[in-house]
Amino acid sequence: AKARGRNNVQFYSPQLTAQASHRLMLESELRRGVERQELLLHYQPKFDLATQKLVGAEALMRWCQPQRGMVSPMSFIPLAEETGLIVRMGTWALHESCHAVASWNRERAADPLKIAVNLSARQFAEGHNLVEAVQGALTASACKPEWLELEITESLLLDGSEGVRQSLEALAAMGITIAIDDFGTGYSALGYLTRLPVQTLKIDRSFVSELPHNGKSAELVKAIVSVGRSLNMALVAEGVETAEQAEYLKNAGCHLAQGYLFGRPLEMAAFDKLLSS
Ligand code: C2E
Ligand code: CA
Ligand code: CA
Ligand code: CA
Repeated sequence: AKARGRNNVQFYSPQLTAQASHRLMLESELRRGVERQELLLHYQPKFDLATQKLVGAEALMRWCQPQRGMVSPMSFIPLAEETGLIVRMGTWALHESCHAVASWNRERAADPLKIAVNLSARQFAEGHNLVEAVQGALTASACKPEWLELEITESLLLDGSEGVRQSLEALAAMGITIAIDDFGTGYSALGYLTRLPVQTLKIDRSFVSELPHNGKSAELVKAIVSVGRSLNMALVAEGVETAEQAEYLKNAGCHLAQGYLFGRPLEMAAFDKLLSS
């Protein structure tokens, strides 16, 4: 630490020490929170742009911390990833989500909904048996594999590991679909799209939010849609906030959308209400 400290004076600064102790506190609170079942999922509705029909939801994790209130996933997911807690949290989210979609679909035999669950790279590490965890979640709630979509990031695919590829192949063989989240924000390589079993591209909110007036974003969205469609993939736009954006995306050939225009992430009871309305 001393050698590093010489090049990096900030290493000893009181501000960093305060940050580190804040982090430690948050970590132990999160650990406790997981044990005390303070986590919950909110469900953001997803719509078909052409038919305007509800087709599913994305499960988004929330931490209801007794003192702090609702903590944003932006602040606790990175910590959960660093500490490895995300593996346990992620398995919980899979069970909870499969349970939710199975209960919704009990009364929707004709047009079942699909649930999308976010996965972290750490859940793919050898030894965590992701495929078994997913299978366990499906079995426990009698959830059909085609009701489940798993959202992963580009960086996971680009690390190119054989273990990741095998897990994705096994999940796809079960009938689960794989979506690439925040597509276009990470890397420019596209070759993996043809080598790996990926069925959905999610267009990142940073592009959507600048539609339709920013010409560069507009062109980029068209390019992403064209790549996706030519590879027979489903396209989902995220962060759609205005009718103009929805219209642009529909005309560009994007299939599905989620965003505040259609609905905010809802707690289970509110989502149930939406279904029965
Ligand atoms: P994400 O997967 O890209 O999720 C989309 C985020 O955009 C969500 O933020 C959602 O609430 C927000 N959003 C949706 N529509 C709109 C809109 O129209 N406008 C704006 N401004 N925002 C919109 P949230 O719920 O805070 O989640 C943040 C991130 O945390 C997620 O980004 C995801 O990366 C991560 N996350 C959430 N739940 C989980 C989980 O269960 N597991 C893992 N590994 N990560 C999760
Ligand atoms: Ca996501
Ligand atoms: Ca996303
Ligand atoms: Ca995003």
